Amino acid sequence: MAAPVHLTFLGGLGEIGRNCAALEAHGRIVMLDCGQLFPDDLPGVDAVLPDFTWLRERADRIEACIVTHAHEDHIGGLPYLLSEMSFPIYGSPFTLGMVRGKLKSAGVPVPELIELHDHARHKIGPFDCEFLPVTHSTPSGLMTLFGTPQGLILHSSDFKLDDNPVDGRVTDLPRLRELAAGEGIRLLLADSTNAGSAGASSSESEIGPVLMSVFEEHAGRRIIVGAFSSHVHRIQQIADAAAATGRRVVVLGPSMVRNVGLARDLGLLRIPESVFATEDDLDDLDPARTCIVCTGSQGETRAALSLMGQGRHRFVTVGDTDTVVFSSHPIPGNEAGIGRLHNALARRGVQLVHSGQIGIHTTGHGKAEELLALHDAADPDLFVPVHGEYSHLVAHHELALERGMVPDNVLRCTDGDRVKLDDDGISHQSRVSDTYVMVDESGNPVSDDLLEERRNLSGEGFVVVRVVVDGRKGKLVGEPFVETRGWVEPSERESWRGEVAEAVAKALKPVVAEGERDPKELARLVRRATGRLVSRRTGRRPALVPVVEVR
Ligand SMILES: [Zn+2]
Ligand SMILES: [Zn+2]
Repeated sequence: MAAPVHLTFLGGLGEIGRNCAALEAHGRIVMLDCGQLFPDDLPGVDAVLPDFTWLRERADRIEACIVTHAHEDHIGGLPYLLSEMSFPIYGSPFTLGMVRGKLKSAGVPVPELIELHDHARHKIGPFDCEFLPVTHSTPSGLMTLFGTPQGLILHSSDFKLDDNPVDGRVTDLPRLRELAAGEGIRLLLADSTNAGSAGASSSESEIGPVLMSVFEEHAGRRIIVGAFSSHVHRIQQIADAAAATGRRVVVLGPSMVRNVGLARDLGLLRIPESVFATEDDLDDLDPARTCIVCTGSQGETRAALSLMGQGRHRFVTVGDTDTVVFSSHPIPGNEAGIGRLHNALARRGVQLVHSGQIGIHTTGHGKAEELLALHDAADPDLFVPVHGEYSHLVAHHELALERGMVPDNVLRCTDGDRVKLDDDGISHQSRVSDTYVMVDESGNPVSDDLLEERRNLSGEGFVVVRVVVDGRKGKLVGEPFVETRGWVEPSERESWRGEVAEAVAKALKPVVAEGERDPKELARLVRRATGRLVSRRTGRRPALVPVVEVR
């Protein structure tokens, strides 16, 4: 009997985001990615993380973390986890450059960073790992082969198949075929994001000509393109179209400036010095010969495009001689914000170009045909769909069955599942926490209760009632003091304050006269009197905050 391998899925199986898994053999742990989830409509929450408790309890057994690529859903959790423990990180130079930048800006000590190049092999903890190139919407993504006591485990990373990628770096299926024909691949963990989409994704290189046609059509106007700052190949194609039509390229936004700098340093992005310009040059450049590349295509409120829409950008004021190109698809959940941004820009006279009109974006995640090609190349004995919302995992599961895998060899897992791979196959072992750990801008935790309070406050407002009781005389000291926000119209606040004070005084006076002195009981009565009045008269349920002082 060979030693078993355990896999613990801490995040990313049930949502797009916070990807994090742990592979374990002989009691030694190697982490695979450590991402965050961007909160959708959670007031005061800056990031949603996996619950790191399980890792925290085993910190001394963590050998390293492998990061597959530079997207936030794979590296965004590192600053939080590394603020309380340390371990070496393996990744491609671009990915590690992004990780280093994140850690530095968070003020977190940078651990040992070990660069991985395509086809590199490393012994990491108990595993003999091999790293293969994958094509994705950020450069230098890597799939990982773990040589384990239970055979080869293949993690696909986020990938697509693209015969003609911008950097010529294709997903290495031939190596998988070679391994499949040799020792064989025991277990496949593969990206499920687009498992529910039929066919295959179009090539990133098809976007270049579309961008060219936009640049030609909008000659004489300033062109502003919103794109993901990590999508280096898209930025390359935007810069190429700009250069070909005689424009200078200005990048705006801290993350765009940082990532473009990193990609240029590593030779992943080629923009000639003669084409490149900075925000300081903007005043001197002819707008008709300028292309601004910036962040904010998802409607992010603090990003460059939103600031332009609000007329609050420091360097750029947009108007009817500008064309704004959204070179990305709305991420589910962002549609409303993007719609507002479109409207804000249109109101300023801007002409809009977006993916709803022309093919100006393609996905970085393989669709059904591409996933099947991966399955065919790797021909795994066992399969666990990973990376996706639950419906994506189900679609990928079904795809594997349609390809002919027997049901017992496909294991459906979700966040918090701990599974065992041994001589008999793969099976569920136990559960660990799958809690959404929410943190604010400073990294402090935000509990469910706190979030609930915030939601309630934002929808219903609050009423504070302060009552002082003279315990000796058995009466109230003065009138109850009432303050309220967000409950009734500000113009009506004053009269409501009077009504609440009157109702509370009426409820308390006889009770206090009869000898009640317990602040808790008195607070309960204040809450009841206030609650009755506000809900009966206004039909609302603001937060009620009684403050009772007995002297
Ligand atoms: Zn990705
Ligand atoms: Zn991802």
